[in-house]
Amino acid sequence: MGQVDFYVVLGVERSATRDEVSRAYRRLARRYHPGINPGDGEAAAFFRIVTEAYETLRDPARRREYDAHGAPEHVPRPASIEFQGFDFSPSGSGGGSSATFEELFSDVFAAQVSRGAPAGGQPERGGDLFGEIVLSFEEAVRGTERRLTVTRLDVCGDCGGTGRRRAAETRCGRCQGTGATRRRRGHMVFAMRCAFCEGTGSLRFRPCAACRESGIAARDEEIAIHVPAGVDDGSRLRIEAKGNAGTRGGKPGDLYIVAKVGRHRVLRREGPDLHVDLPIAIHEAALGAAVDVPTLDGTARLRLPPGTRSGQRFRLREYGVPSPRGDGDRGDLVVAVNVVLPAVDDERSKALLREFGRIHGADVRKDLFED
Ligand SMILES: [Zn+2]
Ligand SMILES: [Zn+2]
Repeated sequence: MGQVDFYVVLGVERSATRDEVSRAYRRLARRYHPGINPGDGEAAAFFRIVTEAYETLRDPARRREYDAHGAPEHVPRPASIEFQGFDFSPSGSGGGSSATFEELFSDVFAAQVSRGAPAGGQPERGGDLFGEIVLSFEEAVRGTERRLTVTRLDVCGDCGGTGRRRAAETRCGRCQGTGATRRRRGHMVFAMRCAFCEGTGSLRFRPCAACRESGIAARDEEIAIHVPAGVDDGSRLRIEAKGNAGTRGGKPGDLYIVAKVGRHRVLRREGPDLHVDLPIAIHEAALGAAVDVPTLDGTARLRLPPGTRSGQRFRLREYGVPSPRGDGDRGDLVVAVNVVLPAVDDERSKALLREFGRIHGADVRKDLFED
């Protein structure tokens, strides 16, 4: 038997790019790094040879040398190791764990993996996403439909979430194609199904480059948002399951959309009620009048009684904002009357007002003085 095949160890094709080599190394490191397999000598031994393979194949000069002449002398040969292709005695392989734990987990996808229990681990719910929509006053009150493009982490379309792509068949380097590894306990040798190739002896996949084997890829998705009638400035809409995808079968997170609502020209909103200031003329206030009031949907007729005072309020029932709960409740329109003193600058109006004063004759200041 020849030497260990570094390409087989990393599970990459002979034409693999440096990037592919790095990715393969990270994938294996996440599984076999001593930092995540404390006390597991088998994993540590495998990690040493994985590291050696990686350091050789990522360096163009060393890779050329390896392709021409095979591994340098210090890399253990299968004959010298206990478990073929896998369990290497720690000979003078200067490599060791060249990458720190932190370096391995530097990219965002790996960080996701490291947050949970890295080896195997629990299903983890995907993160929530947050967005904003800008609505006009009318859109918020009446409700509307919006489409929003959200960049979310979703199941990788290239590999369907498995992190692996089908590839030309290569022999499994861990069990040397036998489908079994052997473990020695004292004088006993146990054959175990090879976990790396799942007992098949061969690998028919390569890491998915699109998602770096995480099974998850960033993707822009256009999401239809139904904005219910009655949404207010700062209202938060929750769109279920449109956050990031979960890992290891975990549920997706949610998407939260905060509404920013513009102002109306004359109407103000206070919860379910709308408010409007209504200027009225002096004769309308004194004599009473039916006047038009601006509403959401046009105008409403308000009957002012004779003697309406400035600051007086009138409530138009159910001319307010519909409840966003969709239960049919609706607020009111509150009308605050403001009596406008006319600017009198023509002689006819002045004459009429003088005459009114003479006829009416009321002393508006009489309360200030004692009798
Ligand atoms: Zn993928
Ligand atoms: Zn195997």
